[in-house]
Amino acid sequence: MIDVLYSKEAIDRRIQEMAQELAKDWKDNTILIALLKGSFVFTADLIRALYTVGVSPQIDFMTLSSYGEGMESSGSIVIQKDITDTVSGRQVLLVDDILESGRTLALAKQLLLERGAAQVKVAVMLEKPGKRVMDIQADIVGFVISDVFVVGFGLDYANYYRELPFIGVLKEADYDTIT
Ligand code: 5GP
Ligand code: MG
Repeated sequence: MIDVLYSKEAIDRRIQEMAQELAKDWKDNTILIALLKGSFVFTADLIRALYTVGVSPQIDFMTLSSYGEGMESSGSIVIQKDITDTVSGRQVLLVDDILESGRTLALAKQLLLERGAAQVKVAVMLEKPGKRVMDIQADIVGFVISDVFVVGFGLDYANYYRELPFIGVLKEADYDTIT
């Protein structure tokens, strides 16, 4: 059983608010870089919400892996797929599904700054406070959640559940049903 934490409607409303917030100090020449796979649903909705507030970023994708198939962060991160655009001298909006330990986003942000990005802002759909091991903050957060394992809206468990149109909590009893 998956309990709904945020409904599709609640997520839609929040993403529209986030787009309005982002539009306020949007800089031309911004490239939006989404971290795959988890952020693809959030990103798809966010860019369409940005369109409604007159913002048109270029978009690229990067895949970093930290979690593998389980639920425990391994601590080490590798670049599985890199962006194809250049970021030198550009504004970057880095988008991820969830900020937990901060390892993924800290590495991505550092990498982009090393490549000469002028500024890297971070947007996440979810944040779990109290689990941070890296010194990194998001500039904009959809929802702050407690220490539960969530799936849906792009977030997975063993690559399942990404299609759920809501964000839900996966209970321990369900872990065994997927192998
Ligand atoms: P961090 O590097 O901040 O520890 O972890 C971020 C990544 O861990 C996310 O991009 C996501 O893939 C994964 N993650 C962290 N918490 C959850 C969760 O509750 N559910 C799912 N499905 N993934 C999570
Ligand atoms: Mg992820």
